[in-house]
Amino acid sequence: MNLQLVFVLVGTTHSGNIGAAARAIKNMGFTELRLVDCCAHLTQDAIARASGANALLQQAIRYQTLDEAVADCQAVIGTSARDRHLSVPVMACRNVAEELVFEAQRTSESIRAAMVFGRERSGLSNEEMDRCTRLLRIPCNPDFSSLNLGAAVQVVAYECAQALHSFSVDTSSLSDTSDDDIGATGEAMQHFYDQLYRIMVNTGFLDPDNPKQLMRRIRRYFERNRPSSKEINIFRGILSATEKPFPPKKKEP
Ligand code: SAH
Repeated sequence: MNLQLVFVLVGTTHSGNIGAAARAIKNMGFTELRLVDCCAHLTQDAIARASGANALLQQAIRYQTLDEAVADCQAVIGTSARDRHLSVPVMACRNVAEELVFEAQRTSESIRAAMVFGRERSGLSNEEMDRCTRLLRIPCNPDFSSLNLGAAVQVVAYECAQALHSFSVDTSSLSDTSDDDIGATGEAMQHFYDQLYRIMVNTGFLDPDNPKQLMRRIRRYFERNRPSSKEINIFRGILSATEKPFPPKKKEP
């Protein structure tokens, strides 16, 4: 099983929280931190809170958008203190961790999953949550459910580490998907959405001046149950066929 977890912080404003996240990630045996539109991350405060996880902190890669940060990931797990009812399923932390391990166990390919954390004040935006294949909530006091960012990273990293080291099920009877059919990456999904958008505009189905919520709804539909890489290639093949001129009809013999 090859499951690689990357931890993504979005819009963090207190560098100490980035340091605390780096420490939590290293404590649990993970190695990769990505930062989207965050404050400076090599401050004294961050280094102090990283407390020995300095290399991981220094190697953190900065991105401008969430899309760029998760382009190479097959699964994108958004974390939220709120139990919001979007169409992407909200799952308890442990269940998400177990599902990731389950997915990784049934394929020989390596799977990269992003665990995405929001801003200290406002969390993730609705648009950012739309980019997620799952939403994760750490179950806690319903009247006081917002953890400190570093603490949230700690709990999620802990649950994932536990699932990775102890969770093992016989997957043979549970899935009919073949071993080499792993989830499509964010980049492949984006190409699909771009192509679909282009076709909808060219056919007049979508008015680019008045797009309403169409693309967002379509995106949510596909992210809820993200297709595998083979499946998305089939969809893209069908779309490409509609973009080509039709070949002349064969004459009857
Ligand atoms: N006021 C914000 C909370 C921000 S806390 C809100 O209501 O969304 C900062 C981040 O820590 C969140 O965006 C989320 O990534 C994580 N977090 C905090 N508490 C959490 C919880 N109970 N479950 C999952 N993630 C949590």
